[in-house]
Amino acid sequence: MNKIIIIFGPPGSGKGTQAARIVQKYGLNYFATGNLIREESEKETELGKKFKEILNDGKLVPDLMIEQFVSEKLKSLDLDQGVVFDGYPRTLNQANSLKKVLKGIKPIILILRVDTPSLINRILTRRICENCEKVFENPAKMGITKCDACGGKLVQRTDDNAETIKSRIDIYENETAPLVDFYQKEGKIIEIDGNPPIEEVWEEIQQKLESDD
Ligand code: AMP
Repeated sequence: MNKIIIIFGPPGSGKGTQAARIVQKYGLNYFATGNLIREESEKETELGKKFKEILNDGKLVPDLMIEQFVSEKLKSLDLDQGVVFDGYPRTLNQANSLKKVLKGIKPIILILRVDTPSLINRILTRRICENCEKVFENPAKMGITKCDACGGKLVQRTDDNAETIKSRIDIYENETAPLVDFYQKEGKIIEIDGNPPIEEVWEEIQQKLESDD
């Protein structure tokens, strides 16, 4: 499979989890701005400090800052191998920048739809591995305390808290969801019901991606 896939979904929709599965199964590159931003925010650099503040406020990193941060990384992506974009683009400006990078390639837009009350519950109970950022849905319920991929400690994302959830969901609705209109012309839209358990959602994603081949 050789595809450019952009995965859209509100915070807590499971897009990181499903994106990682797509990457692994189909051997695609992975481009996740949230992961890159979190890594930088752990550093004591000026940029890292700014990112940390923005993350903790549940806001978006301003477009200009994102452009500077990702432009080299975007240019060095091997498009021939295919890429899953997770968390990018999030605004119309970013979508236009990505369009230039894709040079006429029409991406597949995978949209995960999840009801808001489920999102809040998932965000509050999920944890990520502090090393490899693998996402775990409610690991406490299953008594899981370590990452099954690398043995790392499971931690709560600093932005996964009751104060920022609403703002992050609103930002998604206001700034990112409207990009679906942009991609009606610029790509192919695949809608997925993200409410069922991870395995069921994953089955639907594979079926829809493969029937598109
Ligand atoms: P995510 O892991 O995709 O939920 O992203 C976590 C946070 O990183 C977001 O809430 C934003 O603060 C920031 N972020 C990630 N990707 C972007 C982007 N493309 N544009 C602006 N901010 C971003």
